[in-house]
Amino acid sequence: MLEIKNLHAEIDGKQILKGLSLTIEAGEIHAVMGPNGAGKSTLSYALGGRPGYEVTSGSVSFNGTDLLDMEPHERAAAGLFLGFQYPVEIPGVSNVQFLREALNAQRKERGEDPLSGGDFLKLAKEKAALLGLDMEMLKRNVNVGFSGGEKKRNEMVQMGILDPTFAVLDETDSGLDIDALRVVGEGINAIMRDENKGVLLITHYQRLLDYVRPDKVSILADGRIVQTGGPDLAKRLEAEGYDAVMANA
Ligand code: ADP
Ligand code: MG
Ligand code: MG
Repeated sequence: MLEIKNLHAEIDGKQILKGLSLTIEAGEIHAVMGPNGAGKSTLSYALGGRPGYEVTSGSVSFNGTDLLDMEPHERAAAGLFLGFQYPVEIPGVSNVQFLREALNAQRKERGEDPLSGGDFLKLAKEKAALLGLDMEMLKRNVNVGFSGGEKKRNEMVQMGILDPTFAVLDETDSGLDIDALRVVGEGINAIMRDENKGVLLITHYQRLLDYVRPDKVSILADGRIVQTGGPDLAKRLEAEGYDAVMANA
């Protein structure tokens, strides 16, 4: 589903990704863990096409098409969703407006008819209920005044509404208390655990993986994937630390 080959990317002329290769099959939840500064966020931004993150060589194929050749909005319309470590606040725009615009822009790009206000609200209610987010929160301005946990829950509702085929979730667990962590974990399972979907789950800690059991775990260090294993690899990292696990690879 997603095949990253020998990806090199730089920020401001500084090489961050140094030949990263990673393949994620349909139906797979692949956790990527790694020390601070390893390039995890850079990988997610490069996949999303964020300006300033320049891919200098390598390839990314998404369902057989060249992802790097697409504009960010085309990537989204093709089914790619990016979740962020720090979700943005958008004063003056309600969640409902924002999500309806986003969804209808993607539908338009795919040549589909827009959802009516009524149909959109029905969908939003269903996804909010699934993720335990109060409908009142959806009427408020995007993330403004939301707690860390509420932002993450909101992000899961966004993901539920946009219904991507592939999600890149960058430290979506950071700063969450145990209850919010469970909600996020259950949200990922409910929305993305599907034989036709895939997830690249970037996390710094093992604990999210108690809720979302990954099929595979890879370690990203110094701009490359240096090791891949099963869920037990995450447990070992938690117990022994990156240095010890990588030294014994
Ligand atoms: P991670 O998410 O694994 O913690 P990042 O991808 O955020 O790592 O960062 C990788 C490296 O890129 C770090 O050394 C970081 O300092 C550097 N970096 C990140 N953003 C910028 C930037 N805007 N300008 C220059 N260097 C950056
Ligand atoms: Mg970091
Ligand atoms: Mg990061």
